[in-house]
Amino acid sequence: MKALCILGSTGSIGESTLDVVRRMPGKFRVRSMTAGGNAKKLAEQAAEFQPARIAISEKDKYAELKSSLNGWRGEILAGAEALCALAEEPESDYVVSAIVGAAGLLPTLAALKSGKQVGIANKEPLVMCGPLMIAAAEKSGATILPIDSEHSAVFQSARAGNHGEIRKIVLTASGGPFRKATKEMMAKARKEDALKHPTWSMGAKITIDSATLMNKALEIIEAHFLFGVPYEAIHVWVHPQSIVHALVEFTDGSVVAQLGLPDMRLPIQYALTWPERLDGGLPVLPLEKMATLTFEEPDRERFPSLDLSYLAGRKGGTAPAVLNAANEAAVQLFLDAAIPFVKIFDLVGAALGAHAVKPLDSVAGVLAADAWARDFVKRKA
Ligand code: NAD
Ligand code: MG
Repeated sequence: MKALCILGSTGSIGESTLDVVRRMPGKFRVRSMTAGGNAKKLAEQAAEFQPARIAISEKDKYAELKSSLNGWRGEILAGAEALCALAEEPESDYVVSAIVGAAGLLPTLAALKSGKQVGIANKEPLVMCGPLMIAAAEKSGATILPIDSEHSAVFQSARAGNHGEIRKIVLTASGGPFRKATKEMMAKARKEDALKHPTWSMGAKITIDSATLMNKALEIIEAHFLFGVPYEAIHVWVHPQSIVHALVEFTDGSVVAQLGLPDMRLPIQYALTWPERLDGGLPVLPLEKMATLTFEEPDRERFPSLDLSYLAGRKGGTAPAVLNAANEAAVQLFLDAAIPFVKIFDLVGAALGAHAVKPLDSVAGVLAADAWARDFVKRKA
């Protein structure tokens, strides 16, 4: 039985992971789980999955967590460092990285340094410093399994050929709630409009990222680092039905794609059971009942996030970390109703333009670039 550490168990990916565990009795055991601040949900999850240890990142939620526990006796840790302790302890074989944002960097890195299998949904750290994470995995012998649906689709499709035979990768995007909106409508978009995702049900930050297409922007850089494919070979198509998650074109012109319902449990399950495929009883895609699957080029003028991503990616060094941090800070400001929706693009673009790129040589350097960008956005908002 694989022993799991689930970082971010109370989130959307965390809960879907626990459902996969529930559906595969005897296959996985939850050794540890962590939350940011949702003490009540973490307590409920501990009662059901009986991990040995749990951790809450926000220290002031410790008392609430303690008093919410019911029918579970194990060790409780608190604080951001506790997440790293759980991610690296030898008692777990597999770490699911499902925290949102840069906060997942250090625990995910701790897991990679300890030589485990690491299923990564938390794309932001990969964008910030993918090469450092991959180097850490290579040094320790850790295996990275992509959970992000497009990257899981690339990973699965790429098995049809050799690495040197990949000519092009296409990541699909639903297009989000503003796929057909005018610039004027986007300028007036409220939080409620931006949070209405047409196909996927996810956490708030990634839902806003899907509305700006910044999620796809991050995914372009994520794909570049994960698969070692140049930026000019990574494309984005808008596919509103969210059934084809990615396509890989090989040198002979063959295109191999992975299809599935917009349900994160399938890529999570594949990352957990890899290299095997097992039946977790998930709903199957009724492709024969689907009237149409459509694909179109994204509107790069209304969604400048895509060009910002190629720009940051090609600049390299600390530029992707700045793109990510500026976006995280701007999204938070939009969620707090402090800036209009389209200002997210302006702030990210301005941060990228103002940043003096440094080489990607240490985690400290990446965190400094991250802090600089957050401060820049706060000052310019
Ligand atoms: P979410 O907001 O639903 O959950 C985030 C989790 O992280 C929660 O458990 C929360 O308690 C924890 N957390 C938040 N801030 C924290 C902090 N500062 N320190 C420690 N823990 C903290 O987010 P989500 O939608 O599950 O997304 C998680 C990650 O997976 C993101 O990076 C997202 O881009 C990626 N992802 C999500 C989906 C999806 O369908 N939700 C799909 C692909 C990739
Ligand atoms: Mg995705």
